[in-house]
Amino acid sequence: MATLFEKIIARDIPADVVFEDDHCIVIKDINPAAPVHVLIIPKKPIPKLADAETEDQALLGHLMLTAGEVARQLGVEEGFRLIVNNGEGGGQTVFHLHLHLLAGRDFTEAQLAP
Ligand code: AMP
Repeated sequence: MATLFEKIIARDIPADVVFEDDHCIVIKDINPAAPVHVLIIPKKPIPKLADAETEDQALLGHLMLTAGEVARQLGVEEGFRLIVNNGEGGGQTVFHLHLHLLAGRDFTEAQLAP
């Protein structure tokens, strides 16, 4: 069965798309944990980071580069946090790999929660 993010990529479910290319899509999180909260989602449906394989190396790098590009586009390149939740124990709820990019609030506290 298609994941929620596959349905968003296919435009079966609406989303606020801020960036898209051949390999990934970036959407606004529906339940933002910061003034800027977007999800960087590969079009390839890898369930979680621990499932990624050597052949995904370029794709994973592309997601990181996209984070920087989108951060610049949104004007938050001087201060943002990237998070990957992996598996239920890591707080993952949608089992299609994605990076959370959060910005626009104070991240100086020594905690890593989004
Ligand atoms: P995670 O808990 O790391 O799997 O993150 C899943 C994220 O997807 C959560 O931050 C949700 O708020 C977000 N989310 C769930 N449904 C949607 C949706 N339809 N559009 C945008 N973001 C969503």
